[in-house]
Amino acid sequence: MSDSFDIVIIGGGAAGLSAALTCLNRGKTVAVVLNPQETESLYKAEQVSNYPGLPAMSGKELSDLFRRQLEESGAELKKGRALSVLPMGDSFGVAVEDRFLTGRAVILAAGITREKLYPGEAEFLGRGVSYCATCDGMLYRGKTVAVVGGSEEAKRDADFLESIGCRVLRFEKNGAYAVKGEGKVSALLFGGQEYPVDGVFILKDTVSVTRLVPGLEYESGGIVTDRHMATAVPGVFAAGDCTGKPYQLAKAVGEGNVAALSACEYVDSLSSAKPTN
Ligand SMILES: Cc1cc2nc3c(=O)[nH]c(=O)nc-3n(C[C@H](O)[C@H](O)[C@H](O)COP(=O)(O)OP(=O)(O)OC[C@H]3O[C@@H](n4cnc5c(N)ncnc54)[C@H](O)[C@@H]3O)c2cc1C
Repeated sequence: MSDSFDIVIIGGGAAGLSAALTCLNRGKTVAVVLNPQETESLYKAEQVSNYPGLPAMSGKELSDLFRRQLEESGAELKKGRALSVLPMGDSFGVAVEDRFLTGRAVILAAGITREKLYPGEAEFLGRGVSYCATCDGMLYRGKTVAVVGGSEEAKRDADFLESIGCRVLRFEKNGAYAVKGEGKVSALLFGGQEYPVDGVFILKDTVSVTRLVPGLEYESGGIVTDRHMATAVPGVFAAGDCTGKPYQLAKAVGEGNVAALSACEYVDSLSSAKPTN
């Protein structure tokens, strides 16, 4: 199965579903990177009574309908967290846990992430702090690393790091962690103790879009887009709660549709710009 797509959509909630349906209608190949259904905002709504054409129902019921439609849509569903989006000429590489996808355009439909960074996390990102064991593990062969995170995926990544020759300290509890160093990571602080390490793998359930794609612009906590849902990074579009308030289902669906049309146009423009021999 190919891992190259016209369009990679990050997030399988209302905005991501809407974007996927429109991209598929336009004949594009689509991958949707998606977290578990319970992480969607809609899933948490007690009752939704302002969505056109449907009777009032619980958020879970509506989310079930959306998820089924996504599963039957023909989009390739890639379960897991997108960890980074890297521009690669006229396409993008999207790291999804232990896989790597490419898309000619990317639509961010990742909702809102209410996460706090640990002290030192942003400062040492790329200088000892990593979110991806598969991507960066080999840099720490023979060295000591901390793996912070209690999910099954974090445990698998800790096992992987051990298998390639890292000395692994596992920190599975939630808590007040801090990363320390000078120029690069030298220690992890937790529970009043200092653990000397060369690297810290932070494996939370979500990755804030602020860290996912370099070069985006933000205003009032949302990704800045134009009317076509284009972000500051050419080829990257955004839709739904991640573009800011109002946090409403109909807005997410509408923006997903516009982002998809724009992404399709962008992909078509790349194809027509190719020199013909
Ligand atoms: C309690 C509650 C009640 C609400 N009630 C209403 C209502 O009555 N009417 C109304 O119109 N709106 C309501 N809303 C708002 C509405 O649910 C949201 O605006 C809408 O669902 C947003 O959809 P979205 O696709 O933008 O984001 P989400 O539904 O949050 O979907 C984003 C998805 O992307 C995933 N994701 C994030 N990062 C990554 C990554 N790195 N890799 C892979 N996946 C990722 C997330 O885990 C999530 O599954 C309510 C919201 C809440 C919380």
